[in-house]
Amino acid sequence: MNRDYAAKKEINRLVKSAKLKAKPDDCLICHTPTTRFCNSHSIPKFCLKQIASEGYVLTSYAIYDYPILKEADGIERAGTFHLICTQCDNTAFSDYEDPNNYDENPNQRMLAQIAIKNLLKLMDKRRTEIEYYQMFCEEHPEFSEHFSIKQIANKLDLVEYESAFQRACRALKNGKAAFHLAYYAKLDYVTPVAFQGQIAMAFDLEGNVINDLFYYSPKYKIEMLNICILPMENKSIIMMFIEEGHKRYRKFIKQFNKLEPLDQLSVISYIVILYSEDLYLSNSIKDVIEGNQYLKKAAEENTDYMFEATVKSRIEEVKKNTISTTENLSRTFY
Ligand SMILES: [Zn+2]
Repeated sequence: MNRDYAAKKEINRLVKSAKLKAKPDDCLICHTPTTRFCNSHSIPKFCLKQIASEGYVLTSYAIYDYPILKEADGIERAGTFHLICTQCDNTAFSDYEDPNNYDENPNQRMLAQIAIKNLLKLMDKRRTEIEYYQMFCEEHPEFSEHFSIKQIANKLDLVEYESAFQRACRALKNGKAAFHLAYYAKLDYVTPVAFQGQIAMAFDLEGNVINDLFYYSPKYKIEMLNICILPMENKSIIMMFIEEGHKRYRKFIKQFNKLEPLDQLSVISYIVILYSEDLYLSNSIKDVIEGNQYLKKAAEENTDYMFEATVKSRIEEVKKNTISTTENLSRTFY
């Protein structure tokens, strides 16, 4: 217990300094110099409110048994990033953050706004991680070699996110159709889960490689998948989309389209749990989560937590599970 507490304190201290160091000099959207960045939410706050109880939501760590990380978070802190000014935060995402805009399929403006926000969240995360590992290795040089590959990967990721961010901003500005909507569903109830982000899938549902996540080369571009699970008043919006011209998800989308509607939702949940830590859940399903070994297993295989040394043996597990994933999950969340 004391060791956990000391480790937690140490992580918090480093994360706090890393976050400060990771701040840019100006708003990444309007480029106005600033030191006051908005507390921007990746998942819109009005969606988080739908699943919050007394202002709190469960984090994805509620699925694991991992006491160092917080199992619940206040909605002011859930999935936030700090890279743009308040004015941009209020205006740059207004089309997709309007619940009245979902009677029909989301338009290209909305998809571009979502992609821009997803990329800002990822950039914030990688910028912080780069600073974090740098400070950690300065204080503990014996780990430098161990984390050197992680740092190379982080820096390559950041370059890719920045260029995808620029492309999405240009598409929004020029009114260009830059995204392909692979899946869209409007459910007539409020899901107890919320998620918005970009992930890089390693395998499709038949075990074919989509992205080689461990091919660290500036020449190899990882292709990302945007996913939203947005609970709103009396409805929920679920969607997946990719950047136009990205071909590696073609087989996956075909396989996905052949599934029954409930299985499609199940697969989306599984992918989110497997590839991201930015999932938020309602306290109302705490008992369901705690009793579900299948969810736990998916969370434990989360690619975000895997380091190079352990990942290669575990990636085979990810592959096996991705193939046989259309069980159990849909009954939990939908
Ligand atoms: Zn701005």
